[in-house]
Amino acid sequence: MRADAAALRALPSVDQVLRRLADRVELAQVSRARLAALVRETLAAERQRVVAEQGVPADAEALAARVVARVERVGLFSLRPLINATGVVLHTNLGRALLSRQARERLAAVASAYSNLELDLATKERGSRYSHVEALLRRLTGAADALVVNNNAAAVLLALETLAHGREVVVSRGELIEIGGEFRIPDIMLRSGAVLREVGTTNRTHLRDYAQAIGPDTGLLLKVHTSNYRVVGFTAAVASRELAELGRERGIPVMEDLGSGSLVDLRPYGFPHEPTVQETVAAGVDLVSFSGDKLLGGPQAGIVVGRSEVVARLKKNPWNRALRIDKFTIAALEATLCAYEAGTALRTVPTLAMLTEPLAAVRRRARGVLRRLPAAVRERLAARIAEDRAQVGGGALPTVELPTAGVVAGASPEAARRLDALLRAGDPPVVARLVDDRIFLDCRTVLAGQVADLARRLAAAASEL
Ligand SMILES: *Cc1c(COP(=O)(O)O)cnc(C)c1O
Repeated sequence: MRADAAALRALPSVDQVLRRLADRVELAQVSRARLAALVRETLAAERQRVVAEQGVPADAEALAARVVARVERVGLFSLRPLINATGVVLHTNLGRALLSRQARERLAAVASAYSNLELDLATKERGSRYSHVEALLRRLTGAADALVVNNNAAAVLLALETLAHGREVVVSRGELIEIGGEFRIPDIMLRSGAVLREVGTTNRTHLRDYAQAIGPDTGLLLKVHTSNYRVVGFTAAVASRELAELGRERGIPVMEDLGSGSLVDLRPYGFPHEPTVQETVAAGVDLVSFSGDKLLGGPQAGIVVGRSEVVARLKKNPWNRALRIDKFTIAALEATLCAYEAGTALRTVPTLAMLTEPLAAVRRRARGVLRRLPAAVRERLAARIAEDRAQVGGGALPTVELPTAGVVAGASPEAARRLDALLRAGDPPVVARLVDDRIFLDCRTVLAGQVADLARRLAAAASEL
């Protein structure tokens, strides 16, 4: 213990290290406050190392060099692009959907100049920001009107607040879902001022359950798509069409929260049937809500389509102003929807392209990574090609297991864990999956343009193992 204290006293001070950094040209753009914070972090790490290893502290010059190396390696931004080698196509922690090239271009164009966000160019009068996507959404979904808010959680909140504040919302017990990140249907219901009226049982709910629950206080019949789980076995749920008919008969609006609403039927690519937005609209429900950045593959957004009178009520709600989307979302969403209308979405929208890419193509990318590794690195990592199953993620298609291929690495469980940490620490960071005590670098979600980078990062990590 005493030896530790003496060693720690020998650590240079923040100022001593900062003085060594004062005239480094590499750091000319870095503020003094930022630099001081970086030095403090570097010193804290060194302090930990000295204690853990009973070592001798590095001197001010060496610590200054570490700060420079770190700035050069990872830059100064906190939010950074990385290599998703988890195979999870819609990974909420890794930013969910990637945007198509066209969406990125529209985003850059609208970010670089003023735009007609809320200006009607024909009349020079104030326009609606939603007008840029409304017509597209109407044509694509068959609905009479559309509205876009910050995300699907906001869409559900807005609908409940508008249609059922102080009134009852009838929901099946089999659909009282949690999405993750604190979004639970019963909680959001409470916050919207609506009163939850549960009907049926966990595994079976019938039309008569809904019918019997309707009373003078009923504001809405809500159906929630079980997008992130499945109830299997002895089950029964009421079809959207039947619920829509019941609502119509009794004069009560019906909403369906589709969650990961898709605009294309993915069955031809081997996926199970998921109700598309068009099908749900055609079933006659008044409102359908879904995410912009799940299966749609666009920017984060909550899209609501449905009957004009009902959508109009949502648009007038003051909450809508608080939940509104910005011009970047509109630019990216418009471009994404255009790809659907042009029939090119399966090729150009990254989410759909990744989900439908044949295994052979994924395997080719995995081989590309392996081929770029020098033989010595391959041996050191015990690297080889393997096949596995990947998840769609993002609370979408929960039962689907996508066949996938990747590179397995790590000569031992211990080496695999070290490698995992090293891969996350460099630039670009690589986030992998641990499978059977080895690293599995799933290439379904590794972009073609990242193959060389991934190989370079693997080689660099191998040299530090
Ligand atoms: C994902 C999901 C939500 C929340 O959508 P966000 O766009 O993430 O806010 C709501 N309902 C269902 C059924 C979902 O699957």
